[in-house]
Amino acid sequence: MDLNLTPDEQSFRDEFRAWLQENVFEAKTVDELKRWQRTLFEGGWAGISWPKQYGGRGATLMQQAVFQEELALADAPQLIGVIGLSLVGPTIIAMGTDEQKARHLSKILSGEEIWCQGFSEPNAGSDLASLGTRALKDGDGFIVSGQKTWTSFAHIADWCLLLVRTDFEAPKHKGITCLLADMHAPGVTVRPLRMMSGDAGFNEVFFENVRIPSSQVLGKVNEGWTTAIAALMNERANLGTGVQVLFRRNLNALIARARSMNRSADPIVRQKLAQAYLELEILRMNTNRALTSLSKSGVPGPEGSTLKLYWSEMNQRTQQIAQEVLGQHAQLSDFDNGMWQYSYLRARGNTIEAGTSEIQRNIIAERVLGLPKSY
Ligand SMILES: Cc1cc2nc3c(=O)[nH]c(=O)nc-3n(C[C@H](O)[C@H](O)[C@H](O)COP(=O)(O)OP(=O)(O)OC[C@H]3O[C@@H](n4cnc5c(N)ncnc54)[C@H](O)[C@@H]3O)c2cc1C
Repeated sequence: MDLNLTPDEQSFRDEFRAWLQENVFEAKTVDELKRWQRTLFEGGWAGISWPKQYGGRGATLMQQAVFQEELALADAPQLIGVIGLSLVGPTIIAMGTDEQKARHLSKILSGEEIWCQGFSEPNAGSDLASLGTRALKDGDGFIVSGQKTWTSFAHIADWCLLLVRTDFEAPKHKGITCLLADMHAPGVTVRPLRMMSGDAGFNEVFFENVRIPSSQVLGKVNEGWTTAIAALMNERANLGTGVQVLFRRNLNALIARARSMNRSADPIVRQKLAQAYLELEILRMNTNRALTSLSKSGVPGPEGSTLKLYWSEMNQRTQQIAQEVLGQHAQLSDFDNGMWQYSYLRARGNTIEAGTSEIQRNIIAERVLGLPKSY
């Protein structure tokens, strides 16, 4: 990939930079974060990688990389509709019916619909195909019963990309269906789970005889595994680009703190900060490499696992450095609003969410390197 910007790319960067200067604002609450996504949408800057016909910009891969870097530079807030934008939307574009596209895509872009991903269950995480949430055929629809868990954003979500079992006799990968489930339908109960960071960002979700019409099947009945893999690859490919913004903000804040506390006078601290900076640059380069590969194949491939493995472990190393550099201050909830304590604790989940590091290594071994299966 040629990392020098062409004149067109430079003008794209300048346009977005100028727009950000005018429009970026601090957003923390759900309402503020929704307003931020709506602002991006109204400015034409939501889902820039989506094709123009679906409300995106059809941005080139280099433009996507520039876009992420500018968000980071402007200290822009995170996107609250990240699951819809990076995982559900691209999967609906690839596999949805015209009706599903018309109904959901622009609301995903604007943040009017917040989505969650109902894949994991108490007995199906890494071995996702063992999932047991049942959907029984009932006229022109399904009756769904079962439990999902660790469902991020479910407490604020309007819709859920839901995996259910529809064939109980078929081999486990063959009897799964993917549904677009209304989180406000009767029979859906969401129970927040508190993480050690104090956050309740994910939830248990219970489905008790929830009726979902057949028109809300994404892909084909009993072929939901294909839909799930497409969604997971979109997740791994896109999350790596998104988390960069967060990591860049976090590292910039750490460097500023190290300076203001005169910790940067210590050469060992400087080396550690330089190491964290280099690793973030490596993530940026690797993201560009993944985007290059995406541009050749058109669909995210298993190599997205290298990016997921790298950013999750990198962030844990960086948060460890933050604790060492800031010392006991990092443990205080009133120091920088507790962000260092929070970031350190939240980073533990990075190597579990979107597939654990062990699972990423298995995927890289088997599907990227072509090594034999490990059973
Ligand atoms: C912060 C966070 C947010 C999440 N958000 C969502 C969400 O929005 N939606 C959703 O559906 N899920 C979500 N998850 C769930 C996540 O996808 C699962 O936790 C993950 O897939 C692991 O499943 P599990 O927890 O059941 O662990 P298990 O699968 O039981 O794994 C336990 C341990 O065994 C290891 N292991 C399992 N199988 C193998 C193997 N074949 N080879 C080597 N090691 C193995 C694992 O690596 C792990 O260390 C989230 C998780 C976290 C932490």
